[in-house]
Amino acid sequence: MAVERTLSIIKPDATRRNLTGKINAVIEDAGLRIVAQKRVALTRAQAEGFYAVHKERSFFGELVDFMISGPVVVQALEGENAVATYREVMGATNPANADEGTIRKQFAESIEANSVHGSDSLENAAIEISYFFAQTEIVG
Ligand code: ADP
Ligand code: MG
Repeated sequence: MAVERTLSIIKPDATRRNLTGKINAVIEDAGLRIVAQKRVALTRAQAEGFYAVHKERSFFGELVDFMISGPVVVQALEGENAVATYREVMGATNPANADEGTIRKQFAESIEANSVHGSDSLENAAIEISYFFAQTEIVG
């Protein structure tokens, strides 16, 4: 295994319910280090660009509306096997299918309002981290 970085986003359903600290505790308890973090209000253009891979999906418009409905917390996470580790910690996209103890099982409201984003590959992690952070903002 190698030390990797992955992008996490704490989504508007979670910031609205004041869950940033509880989610960060799950992340840190899993052995991942939060090496960059900022709370931002995404613009529509930023949200559309971030989810461009999903633009043909039926839920794209609603997903963008949701992601700009309140603040998000964008984070770079670092640790052994960080991309896959964080996907495990997050749980399945649909919280109804998420394992016990995962963030989505504990906190998600629905398949859309599912509390967190995590990169799905090391390649996408690098692209997504650079979408939100300058190298100088990441302190390992
Ligand atoms: P994940 O976030 O688990 O990688 P996807 O990349 O497939 O999942 O989808 C991106 C996001 O789009 C999901 O996290 C969720 O917020 C939303 N989404 C996915 N599938 C649906 C759906 N069927 N209906 C509404 N929103 C969805
Ligand atoms: Mg995804």
